[in-house]
Amino acid sequence: MADALFNAGNLFLAFLPWWAAVYAVNLFLYFITGWTLVAIQNRHPELRTQPNRRGEKRKAKEIRQSVISLLVTDGCLTGGLFLQYQGLTLIDPPALSWWSMPLTFVLSIVVFDAWFYWAHRFMHTKLMYRFHAEHHRSVAPTVWSTYNDDLVDAFGMQSYYLWAPLILPIPALVLIGHRLYDHFNGTIRSFRLRILGEPSFARALPHGLRHLP
Ligand SMILES: [Zn+2]
Repeated sequence: MADALFNAGNLFLAFLPWWAAVYAVNLFLYFITGWTLVAIQNRHPELRTQPNRRGEKRKAKEIRQSVISLLVTDGCLTGGLFLQYQGLTLIDPPALSWWSMPLTFVLSIVVFDAWFYWAHRFMHTKLMYRFHAEHHRSVAPTVWSTYNDDLVDAFGMQSYYLWAPLILPIPALVLIGHRLYDHFNGTIRSFRLRILGEPSFARALPHGLRHLP
């Protein structure tokens, strides 16, 4: 028992620098993407999802909450990658190749999409909505709203990155690529113009239109 606890403690200590590195990269991307898109939006106001509403007055609060909730999101991604690296997988991911990369990328996108759809519906149940209400307080989402989630909400949606690499044959690099795609796609959805197409049935509307009361 003491041995098991000691091992778990050691494993967690080994996990911490991974988590810190992933979190640092994600924070950097959050601010760089946000500032870049705001600069574009200021030059092209017609790209706003809701031209008559201004969500910026919630900016400071949303950034504060995002910086906290990204700890959960990145904890899930890092946890999944770390446990896969430890060999805790149901099916070993295939070696990276010209066919395995696109195939597992599409698999990851499709499964995540279905997961996101049902997890989102679950967050709208009577039991869970109290954890999801914060996200919908952004009636006119801006580039800063993407991660404005309660911690339970963030875990509900993003825990995909924790379990998927353990039970699906998704190589670590592909999972990281998927997460990067989701970051940029999620942030850009605060624009009227969807620059990247979405293969999504669950998220067919730009973020701002889904948040209309
Ligand atoms: Zn919702």
